[in-house]
Amino acid sequence: MTAPGFTPPTRFAVPGRIAVSSGAAALWQTATLTEIRRETARVATFRFAVPGWAGHLPGQHLMLRLTAEDGYRTQRHYSLASPPDDTGHIELTLDHVEGGEVSGWFHTEARPGDEVEVRGPLSGFFAWPGDRPALLIGAGSGVVPLMSMIRHHRVRGLDVPLRLLVSARAPEELLYAREYGTETTPVFTRRAPEGVPVGRLSAAHVAPLLAERPAGGWEAYVCGSNAFAEHASRLLVQAGQPVDHIRIERFG
Ligand SMILES: Cc1cc2nc3c(=O)[nH]c(=O)nc-3n(C[C@H](O)[C@H](O)[C@H](O)COP(=O)(O)OP(=O)(O)OC[C@H]3O[C@@H](n4cnc5c(N)ncnc54)[C@H](O)[C@@H]3O)c2cc1C
Repeated sequence: MTAPGFTPPTRFAVPGRIAVSSGAAALWQTATLTEIRRETARVATFRFAVPGWAGHLPGQHLMLRLTAEDGYRTQRHYSLASPPDDTGHIELTLDHVEGGEVSGWFHTEARPGDEVEVRGPLSGFFAWPGDRPALLIGAGSGVVPLMSMIRHHRVRGLDVPLRLLVSARAPEELLYAREYGTETTPVFTRRAPEGVPVGRLSAAHVAPLLAERPAGGWEAYVCGSNAFAEHASRLLVQAGQPVDHIRIERFG
């Protein structure tokens, strides 16, 4: 898994819990890694026990902090992949970024039993409480917060319309492939299963979904790199989706 030129990060050790202020999202909490599940060659899901987790809405993210033995600290944002009902546990899905300090540590060093710190949930803007039709568009690891929405929809047995357009380079890079149902349309940009066209997300993918016109209209959630988020939101606007009903989360 080690990319050329990749220097393994310092071994991180976690200090005690640090209360920053009184709100749950401002409190650093200890998260104990309980399970690592491989999703694709360079992406894995990390499951943590966080007994004091105050809960979250699908689509929200958290801040994760690592502390090295010499006191050096670093922190990154990660979307919550798990649904809110997974009481006392949270799951994060991390892409192994080449040369990445935090994702590199998780993919090469982290073991069940390791402890890190988390603070959240953060950002209500990209949250979906399950109360209105949602049209989800994601690429690569940008599908992580959208997966929390899909799982929430399943766990709660919601009947509000939910659709997902997910872009991946090839079938073996499609995250959570086994979990998708009829709500999902995968788009493959480099290589596709036999009979499935190869190409970028286009108006031809977006238009039929907008044409469904669910009662109250779609709330669109777009997540991925800067370039993907711009491309997808442009397609939505061109297809008639109101700009003030498009929510964007950028991982770039
Ligand atoms: C709101 C939010 C939610 C996020 N959720 C997730 C998530 O669910 N899963 C996930 O894997 N990531 C997610 N990210 C990205 C994550 O915060 C980190 O940026 C990523 O893990 C890289 O951190 P690192 O320490 O491994 O790399 P760094 O050490 O920070 O960077 C190493 C090198 O990689 C480049 N780089 C950094 N980030 C990326 C990237 N995302 N893609 C390509 N190159 C990059 C840098 O420019 C640098 O050259 C999210 C970001 C935001 C803002």
